[in-house]
Amino acid sequence: MQKAGLEILPSFSIKFPEYSVITPYSKFEYTLRGLKVSEEEALKSSLLLPNKFSEHLNDVLYSVMIKKPEEIKTKEDFLKKNTLKDRDALMFALYHVTYKDVHPYELTCSQCSEKNNVKINFLNSFSVTFWDQPELALSKEVMVKLEQAEQLTFVVGLPSLFEEQQMLNDLSAVSDKERQKKVALLPIKYILIDIASAKKQDKIVDRINIQRVYDDLPVSDRKLIDKALKDNFEKYGSTIKVISNCQKCRAEINTEIDLVNQFFRAMYE
Ligand SMILES: [Zn+2]
Repeated sequence: MQKAGLEILPSFSIKFPEYSVITPYSKFEYTLRGLKVSEEEALKSSLLLPNKFSEHLNDVLYSVMIKKPEEIKTKEDFLKKNTLKDRDALMFALYHVTYKDVHPYELTCSQCSEKNNVKINFLNSFSVTFWDQPELALSKEVMVKLEQAEQLTFVVGLPSLFEEQQMLNDLSAVSDKERQKKVALLPIKYILIDIASAKKQDKIVDRINIQRVYDDLPVSDRKLIDKALKDNFEKYGSTIKVISNCQKCRAEINTEIDLVNQFFRAMYE
């Protein structure tokens, strides 16, 4: 009894799979549901707009959250209270509920360069190291007094999703490489410059000026900054570690799988 154009869609419900994850730095528990077709398509098309991609990804993650902690009432809370590595863990959760966990993967042997085709169960290989320092991860700042550029102190910490999104929104057309560099420099919160004659310190917060100062640093000073980041912030987070043996020479292959790249591979499989 239907006339063309007048079909009524009856109500029906789809039970999406759900998965809970605790983010490694902010230590919030979120429950996510799997992606809908329209959401996957929206993410795919935003890959073509790299400046907008983080924003779209944050939007999608926020919209698939079925349960959020008390502290996260708005999208802005979500952006301001989570780090980029917290988002990696959420992406893993989204990956896990959306795509199947066992994936073919190519592991290259470091000894004989043989390419091994293996099937990896990502869920079994997933591990998280939680932030265990007394202050909140996003509040911690570390001062790095440089040695050769002795007037300079770099202050480093973890960037929030909000800081990343703001920085990307301010960028006009730049190359992929340039954008990746700007994201990589986000852990530099500000720079203090000793002005001896005035017996004071100038504080540099503008991202363009920070990059300018950074580009002029002696290489050994850059290493001090990298080391401070590594020692204070980088031992936490979520990883997929795979240990396997080469099919040709039997050497052990130890691989860490890039969650973010894997996510995009899965979207196109
Ligand atoms: Zn081998």
